[in-house]
Amino acid sequence: MVITRFAPSPTGYLHIGGLRTALFSYLWARKNGGRFLLRIEDTDLARNSQEAMRAIVEAFEWVGLDFDGEVVYQSARFDIYKEYIRKLLDDGKAYYCYMSKEELDILREELQAKGEKPKYDNRYRDFYGIPPEGIAPVVRIKAPLEGMVEFEDGVKGRIAIDVKELDDFIIARSDGTPTYNFVVAIDDALMNVSDVIRGDDHLSNTPKQIIIYNALGFELPMFYHVPMILNPDGKKLSKRDGATDVMDYKKEGYLPEALLNFLVRLGWSHGDQEIFDMKEMCELFCPKDINKSASAYNQEKLLWLNSHYIKNSSNDKLARELERYELFLASHDKKEILLNSVKDRAKTIKELAIVAKGILYEPNEYEQKSCEKFAKDDVISNLEGIKIHLVDSLKAFNLPIDYEELLHQYFEKKELKISKYFQPLRFALTGSPMGVSVFDIMSILGKNITIKRLESLIERLREEK
Ligand code: GLU
Repeated sequence: MVITRFAPSPTGYLHIGGLRTALFSYLWARKNGGRFLLRIEDTDLARNSQEAMRAIVEAFEWVGLDFDGEVVYQSARFDIYKEYIRKLLDDGKAYYCYMSKEELDILREELQAKGEKPKYDNRYRDFYGIPPEGIAPVVRIKAPLEGMVEFEDGVKGRIAIDVKELDDFIIARSDGTPTYNFVVAIDDALMNVSDVIRGDDHLSNTPKQIIIYNALGFELPMFYHVPMILNPDGKKLSKRDGATDVMDYKKEGYLPEALLNFLVRLGWSHGDQEIFDMKEMCELFCPKDINKSASAYNQEKLLWLNSHYIKNSSNDKLARELERYELFLASHDKKEILLNSVKDRAKTIKELAIVAKGILYEPNEYEQKSCEKFAKDDVISNLEGIKIHLVDSLKAFNLPIDYEELLHQYFEKKELKISKYFQPLRFALTGSPMGVSVFDIMSILGKNITIKRLESLIERLREEK
C-alpha cells in the first residue's frame, strides 16, 4: 500500500513550496488508492503555535487536499520516542555521551586548526567507566564506522555517502528530548510511510535517518527529494517575488484549482500539457517524473491558469467566490448576464469583483480627463437623445438585445455611427470608458438606473463645458 505524508513544521503559515510537496504526496497516494497522512512536526514547542497549526489545516481545507485519519502531532509522541531511545540504548546501538560543551568546543577548534571538518570523535562510544559528575549526558547513535550509506532517490538517482562524512550524531539532548532526524525516522517508520516525498533541502538528513531505520530494523521507504522552486532570477523564492503564504493566494482571488494546477507543473510535466484537473493529475502524476533541476516560479503563468479556471467556472460558483469581496449576486436577476460578460476579462476573482462592482455601483465621480474628452456638443446631445428615446419608448426592456435594438434604431435615424458613442455611454454607466458591452451593462442596470446615470454624466459634461 502506498502511504505518503506531509510533515510541516508549523512556524507561521503554509508555504507555497510546502503545498507543492504536499500535492505531490497527495497525488501519489490517491493514484494508488493509498493513504495520505498529515503530521505536524511541532517538537520545538517554543517556536510552534496553535495558530500556525490551524493555518496549515485551513490551507488544506481551502485547496481541498483531504488527508486520511487523524492529524499526527509530534508533540504528543514524546513517550514513543523515549521508548525507542531506550531500546537503542538497551541494544547497545546508542550510548550516553558525557562530553561537556567546553570539551566539544575544544575538539571542534582542534579539528578546524588541522583543516578538518568538525566531527565528534566517538570518545564515549565504548565507554564503560564511571561517568563524570555533574554532566547530563546526550544520547548518540552508533553510526557505522566504515562503508557507505546508499539509497536510490526516486528523483535524484543513486545517492551514496561515505560514513566518514557522518558521526555518531545525537538522538536525544541532555534534557531527554529527541532530535529532529530521530523523530522523523521513527514517525515515518511507525506510520508505515512507503514513499517520502519532500524538499531537497532535506537530502542531507536522509543518510542519518537511514542509520536510524537500520539500527531499529525498520524497512526503508522510497525517498523522493524535490528540487526547490526558484524565482525568475534563479534565487530562492521569497516574499518579494509574490505571495509565499498559500492563504494569500486566496485573498488575492486565485481559485484553488488554478493554484494546484500551477504547482503540479512546477517540477513535473506530462508532454506539453498545461491544464490538469484534479482527476487527471491523480491519473498521470508519478514522482519518478519529477524534474531533477529546480523550477522557476512564473506569476504570468499562474494568472493565465487562473483566468482559464475563472472562464470555465459556473456562474453559481463565481457568485459564491465573489461573496468574499462583499458582492452578493446569488439572487440578482441579472447574475448570468453580468458574470457571462465579465468572466472573460478577469484574471483573478478580486479583479472580477472590481469589474462587476464597477458596473453595479454608481460611479462616485467621473474622472476629469475623460470628462474633458467627452464634453462636446454632439456627445452631450446624443446622450440626451438616447435618454429621451429610452424614456419615451413604450417597449419593455430586459435583455441586452432590447437595448441593442433601441440604440441601433436611434443611431440609424440620426445617420450616425454607433461605435463612436460606445465609450461615452460606458463612461456614463460605469465611470470607465473601457469594459464590457454597453448593451449588457444597460440590461444589467435596467432602464431606470440607465436613465439616471445618463443624466448624471450629461449634467457633469455640461458643467465641464
Ligand atoms: N518538517 C520538515 C519541514 O517542514 C519536513 C520534514 C520531512 O518532510 O521529512 O521542512
